[in-house]
Amino acid sequence: MTVLPPGSTIGILGGGQLGRMLAMAAARLGLRCHIYSDHSGPAFDVAAAATVGAYDDLDAVRRFAETVDVVTYEFENVPCATAEAAARIKPVRPGVKALEVAQDRLVEKRFISALGIPVAPFAPVDCETSLGRAASELGLPAILKTRRLGYDGKGQVRLASAADLASARATVGSALAILEGMVSFEIEVSVLVVRGQGGEMRFYDVPHNTHAQGILDTSTVPAPVTEKTRERAAGIAGAIAGALEYVGVLAVEMFYCGEAAQDPLIVNEIAPRVHNSGHWTIDACAVSQFENHIRAVAGWPLGATDRHSDAVMSNLIGGDVEAWEKLAAEPAAGLHLYGKNDPRPGRKMGHITRISPKSGDRAASCTASVDK
Ligand code: AMP
Repeated sequence: MTVLPPGSTIGILGGGQLGRMLAMAAARLGLRCHIYSDHSGPAFDVAAAATVGAYDDLDAVRRFAETVDVVTYEFENVPCATAEAAARIKPVRPGVKALEVAQDRLVEKRFISALGIPVAPFAPVDCETSLGRAASELGLPAILKTRRLGYDGKGQVRLASAADLASARATVGSALAILEGMVSFEIEVSVLVVRGQGGEMRFYDVPHNTHAQGILDTSTVPAPVTEKTRERAAGIAGAIAGALEYVGVLAVEMFYCGEAAQDPLIVNEIAPRVHNSGHWTIDACAVSQFENHIRAVAGWPLGATDRHSDAVMSNLIGGDVEAWEKLAAEPAAGLHLYGKNDPRPGRKMGHITRISPKSGDRAASCTASVDK
């Protein structure tokens, strides 16, 4: 275990809003951040140092790693070769394994189901024949998703009937894909778990997530689920974090299918990083997901994940941000703007978290320890 004292420097691969909020949380602890990204972004405004360089420029990545004490990342599509190059110079946390698993939906699904955790039924698709085979195996409707580089609903297409097979394949192109059976769920939830270098874990309360046009719209705590479901969800996320020997914050997105379902919780996907569905933790917890990620990668004691308030986080997408003045005047809300200039449709420009006094018995963050 390496403990980085205040004044140490954390290198972050990626310069978006997640890197920005990580750097702000690090600053609160007297830690500095050096951002490495292939373009200038929201994190550059708030970091002690920033470098623009290509992710495949491994010499530049190594030079960057020389200047920091530990390396982390804020997006899951950091090429594995980049993380490996950095790892030869300084520790990379979470490690390369989490990237390898999270970057490929097929690897991810196999990894999670090998742990005995339910996922949607799936089959690999690499050509029209295998798509037809997968469709008859899983039945329709189903969703065709590219194995790599899909986010916010991109790289996926729904198939209602056999008539959609040809057009679905055309939409996804020649990319390797998986076909997923449709899950009949009640709501979508996620678990944010932080795992320290010694294997200790803490869990934030489970948010209820809604989406609009494939993009996260709101995250609400408490979610309308029972204590048992929260514990089950935490158990699932903890098992995945442990199996990845993970250090930092891991997000696990799940479908909640109701208590009567054979599998009340089905994992949709994981994100090996801080996550949009955990932004409410800045305003509703003593220690946010961002600070806990920094604490974990720096070897510090993990912070409290308890929620002191109920919260509804709403993303400000595209032109939503134009209401900033009105939003800033709200009395019980934390407004977060990412410093982006161009409010293009679909672009995450900021978020607002509205807090209210905590509702009695629903308060639930739990802690668990895992042997190393
Ligand atoms: P994803 O990019 O995998 O997170 O999918 C985007 C959204 O599509 C999810 O948040 C769900 O609302 C929906 N979705 C994805 N996969 C499934 C599935 N197998 N069954 C039902 N809905 C799904």
